[in-house]
Amino acid sequence: MDLFEYQARDMFEAHGVPVLPAEVVTDPAEAAAVAERVGAASGGVVVVKAQVKTGGRGKAGGVKLARSPQEATEAAEQILGMDIKGHTVGTVMIAQGARIAEEYYVSLLLDRANRTLLAMCSKEGGVEIEQLAVERPEALARVPVDPLVGIDAATAAEIVQQAGFTTDQDAIADVLQQLWKVYEAEDATLVEVNPLVKTEDGAILALDGKVSLDDNADFRHPDRAELVDAASADPLEAKAKEKGLNYVKLDGNVGIIGNGAGLVMSTLDVVAYAGEDLGEVDGVLARPANFLDIGGGASAEVMADGLDVILGDEQVRSVFVNVFGGITSCDAVANGIVQALEMLGDKETKPLVVRLDGNNVEEGRRILTEAGHPLVTLADTMDGAARKAAELAVTTNS
Ligand code: GDP
Ligand code: MN
Repeated sequence: MDLFEYQARDMFEAHGVPVLPAEVVTDPAEAAAVAERVGAASGGVVVVKAQVKTGGRGKAGGVKLARSPQEATEAAEQILGMDIKGHTVGTVMIAQGARIAEEYYVSLLLDRANRTLLAMCSKEGGVEIEQLAVERPEALARVPVDPLVGIDAATAAEIVQQAGFTTDQDAIADVLQQLWKVYEAEDATLVEVNPLVKTEDGAILALDGKVSLDDNADFRHPDRAELVDAASADPLEAKAKEKGLNYVKLDGNVGIIGNGAGLVMSTLDVVAYAGEDLGEVDGVLARPANFLDIGGGASAEVMADGLDVILGDEQVRSVFVNVFGGITSCDAVANGIVQALEMLGDKETKPLVVRLDGNNVEEGRRILTEAGHPLVTLADTMDGAARKAAELAVTTNS
């Protein structure tokens, strides 16, 4: 889950990262009072910032300096409702203004390719960091961080040194250690500060914050539900999450259910290939509509939940159920499918192609054949099933 800047700011504050006072408003009428409060220590100067989960707000006009409560109201009026890269601004954060002397960049992230954590740091922040990384990679220090050690004093000092800081080394090293606390305690996969600034008074402050949290650690953070932005969450993904299913919505038309992440991923591939092979039919190409791994225990209830989510996707025209019987044998899965279709009743209006293999496959096939559900087609092979599901997706009029 990605956080809004104001949520990241609050987390920073809770872990001792230096930030400026700020509050959010959703109505311009509230802006003046907030500006008066947070701008009290900065001569009335505040910054009004769009709260959207995308970067480049500054360039898009979503970050405005205001010198009085009146100007803050005007800025809030302009920014609220603005569209930034497809995100409509519903909330602005009003923060105390800072007099910036220098802008730096810091991030801490999961480096999957190298199976470690990585700290990145530059004296040249505030700019497009991707561009800096490409054009002058030497200006962006990259220091691996051992997850068992984290950013201790020695690692922080090394990051500061590699980034080439010649002043404020200790203050910046402190901030790095505080950001590590955020990363570790909050189970983040990304903590980014751009810009980390030095003010004209010499203070080091995090002026922007981007935090992504690891959803797999949600169980350790019972209060996290309130961070979820219900307004922008995909309703099907939310429903799947509620039912404990591992579901990712894609934009095709062939719904996919399988047991095991590896099997589901290869199912996505064979469906994509089958779709390409078939080509467009009336301008429609068969493509995977989702990833859904129902895991090892493919019970009737799990199967029903999975089908329910997939059939709720209006783009889905056919469904491919690809199960390899292991500990849960094919007959149990077949019974699960039959019962799931009964449970779903009239809601079940899209054709299903089922491919079963593995433990007790004969019995599984017999159960499905005997049930004779009009919407279910049995396929012998994965490729054959993919082909059939692709055909149904581009020819069914539903
Ligand atoms: P982003 O464009 O979405 O990354 O939004 P930022 O929060 O990083 O803001 C963009 C730019 O606005 C920053 O790089 C700063 O230069 C500027 N900015 C943000 N807050 C302040 C502030 O308090 N004072 C001043 N003078 N500039 C600010
Ligand atoms: Mn920024």
